[in-house]
Amino acid sequence: MTASLVLPRLIRTGSGALAEIADLLGRCGVSRPLIITDPTMVQLGYVDRLSGHLAGAGIAFGLFDATEPEPTETSVISAEAILASGCEGAAFDGLVALGGGSAIDTAKALAVLGPHGGRMRDYKVPRMVDEPGLPVVAIPTTAGTGSEATRVTVITDPENDEKMLCMGLAFMPVAAILDPDLTLSLPKRVTADTGIDALTHAIEAYVSRKASPFSDQQALAAMRLIAPNLRRAFHDGEDREAREALLIGACFGGIAFSNASVALVHGMSRPIGAFFHVPHGLSNAMLLPAITRWSIPAAPKRYADCARAMGLADEAASDAFSNDALINELRALNEELGVPTPTGFGIAHERWQQLRPLMAEQALASGSPGNNPRVPSADEIIALYDEVWG
Ligand code: NAD
Repeated sequence: MTASLVLPRLIRTGSGALAEIADLLGRCGVSRPLIITDPTMVQLGYVDRLSGHLAGAGIAFGLFDATEPEPTETSVISAEAILASGCEGAAFDGLVALGGGSAIDTAKALAVLGPHGGRMRDYKVPRMVDEPGLPVVAIPTTAGTGSEATRVTVITDPENDEKMLCMGLAFMPVAAILDPDLTLSLPKRVTADTGIDALTHAIEAYVSRKASPFSDQQALAAMRLIAPNLRRAFHDGEDREAREALLIGACFGGIAFSNASVALVHGMSRPIGAFFHVPHGLSNAMLLPAITRWSIPAAPKRYADCARAMGLADEAASDAFSNDALINELRALNEELGVPTPTGFGIAHERWQQLRPLMAEQALASGSPGNNPRVPSADEIIALYDEVWG
């Protein structure tokens, strides 16, 4: 089997790396960027810091600060108008995404819709969008989606609530800045949800049928960084060492899944997010223990490796022991990080029941369940939705 590897051209990491934005844009050939961000980044003063660095280097820029969490196509279309208006009489020649996965995904979608037109649904899988779009420099403030290093964007279709998975070289940022200082302000809930999202990326990439020796190493490195640091950052948001480990771990997780694909957890998670407006990391967290338990019989050795990388079992431990340790840890993590059940989140049982067949259909259509070590039928996905409701 061959493996295909796609990465950003340049990644800068470390405390204070944001200050290198002008140099990085120069290296990527971007001279008039449009900043894509959300209102929280403005309130936190992060947009001022970014624009100060750009202005200091004499770089003209524009600002779209109205991206929405779990972006719909509607917010991408609003940004399209600003992109089209240009900057000081010339066209914008790149995008700087500052924020969580939602801001970065909005920028990636815009990078394709801007120059190529059409609707976002024209670009969803199974189409591979490889034609060049505008260059995107991603500055993640969550740790996280890994979107700064993935060839993926996820945009909801406002007409049918489908969370569309869009993939291809066009969605890979040209560069990323990983500055952990920007993650110190993350609230507990977002720290937990985004951290479990990153852990899910690593586990799913490692057990994916499309895993390769390259993605395996990225996935294991991600688990080693995320597992011991997620509780630390959750309980003490100012723990810089834990914050930095999580940010790098999340990026490794993104690289791993972007090159190996995600699997059943993500396939089932997107419809929950779209229909019930559950943040992406949280819907993954709700699903992760049950889907892992169901999938283990098809890849016990691989899941045991995950437990070992997470420090839950030593090399001498049996696969069976390691698998049990993994399930117990995923349940304990949800408990300690306050992950609610679907009922606890406020989802109505009747609507959950009613939507299960459609959610199963959308999950299968995304292709992600086909990468799972144990590939489910639509009926099995419905049964798993029942179990997660449990
Ligand atoms: P998010 O971007 O939606 O952010 C969640 C909330 O946290 C927002 O209100 C945001 O303003 C706030 N926030 C972000 N950074 C902050 C900071 N440093 N301090 C304080 N508040 C901050 O959350 P996310 O989980 O990063 O992104 C979720 C989106 O990413 C979903 O739409 C999901 O589908 C998508 N996603 C994309 C990929 C990909 O590869 N493209 C992978 C996984 C998930």
